[in-house]
Amino acid sequence: MSLIACNECQGKVSDSALACPHCGCPLPNLNEEDKNELKEKIELSKYRTLCGFFFFGGIAWIYFGTVDAIDKDAALSEVWQSARWFIGIGFFGYLVGEFINGIDDMKRKRKRKTH
Ligand SMILES: [Zn+2]
Repeated sequence: MSLIACNECQGKVSDSALACPHCGCPLPNLNEEDKNELKEKIELSKYRTLCGFFFFGGIAWIYFGTVDAIDKDAALSEVWQSARWFIGIGFFGYLVGEFINGIDDMKRKRKRKTH
């Protein structure tokens, strides 16, 4: 643990502090670029959670829609008609998120090299 200068007010702050004690700036030890990266990571994890909600929601829908059914095949084909969209959106959304994240990571690495 060491003291560094806050990015906002230049006051001394611990490098492990979550907020500056002088100006209240969150994560004072991160520069703008790191902060943007962190923000993107948080957005991505929110997005992943949403995709997971769709995906596993669809699976749960199939499970609960067929678990008590007498004719399981008929129940499954009926539930599948709607649940497949949830599973598809969740799965496809996850892939798109990973793809965009991969491109962003590549851009970031390239940017760092040129600095
Ligand atoms: Zn500060």
